[in-house]
Amino acid sequence: MQHCWPLPLIQYGNLNEIVDLRDVSVLYSDGTWDAVKSKLSLNASKMIKVTEATLVHWNVLLERITGEAIYAVGGGLAVDAAKYLGAKLGRPIVCIPTVISVDAFLTWASGYRENGCVHYMETKPPDTVFVDFEVIRNAPLTMRSAGITDVLSIATGRHDWKFAHEAQRNPEGMKFDPAVDNMIAGVLNAAMACASEAGECTNAGLRRLFECLAMEVQLCNLIGHARPEEGSEHYFAYAAEEVLGKGLPHGELVGPGIMVVARLQGQDTKLLERAMRTCHVPLNKIPADTIRSILRSLPQFCVKHNLPYGIAHELTGKMIESVDLDFSE
Ligand SMILES: [Zn+2]
Repeated sequence: MQHCWPLPLIQYGNLNEIVDLRDVSVLYSDGTWDAVKSKLSLNASKMIKVTEATLVHWNVLLERITGEAIYAVGGGLAVDAAKYLGAKLGRPIVCIPTVISVDAFLTWASGYRENGCVHYMETKPPDTVFVDFEVIRNAPLTMRSAGITDVLSIATGRHDWKFAHEAQRNPEGMKFDPAVDNMIAGVLNAAMACASEAGECTNAGLRRLFECLAMEVQLCNLIGHARPEEGSEHYFAYAAEEVLGKGLPHGELVGPGIMVVARLQGQDTKLLERAMRTCHVPLNKIPADTIRSILRSLPQFCVKHNLPYGIAHELTGKMIESVDLDFSE
């Protein structure tokens, strides 16, 4: 039987409204617990810091989990671990984002690092995501709404999806679907429209950004793959992470990935760049010569890790030398 995962229950409000009498384990990433501890009253028998996204680390944490439910506090690192552990142990998961940094709060897969790339494993979506806009507003400027990159990646992801279609390189389960492509374009437009308010962290802007992430995830859930939002810009980010070291925020890798891949695809990047800048996504963390050397390695990287076909598979020296890497407005 085929299945289609749901989104988590999404609750917007103040964290001090959470009433949970269960004994729980709290997973958190560095620096995030302090942002919420004064608002939360949980019966936490374990406080567990998540330090990396690897199966080895998660299996060590597995032994430490106690209680009836798992809370994940922070960004993608905590929630990816929580989804893995919750699925393994059959425990419900409550997720409390301290930043809107990725779409992982809403998806059913856990991203982990192995053999030089990011891989996704089917685990389960969190049962509940509790979003407190006040907490997000107090998060670091460059992190708090950087998750817009996981919606703006639609611009390059859908281009790749169509590119693969034209080259007859989409496998059976990932056939290009013009109706879905249309719908996801609407989500991209909604994200561009809310970028400035999301960057300012108004309640309405953050809510719309979260909704855009949820719509993007739900659409991918329905079709069973992430091609409309994940393509060469993510491959660039995965390869960049290997070069630059783990632990860099997702948006700081995907953001430049979107810029450079969109240009390689021949797209105008003005609006994408403006949206990312208004959300304070740093676009200049990777030096230009490092970007070019990552691009040179990308076709081989894609084949090695069996990534779905996109422009990254077809980059030539000439394309890489001539692409404009000036991201200043
Ligand atoms: Zn992503």
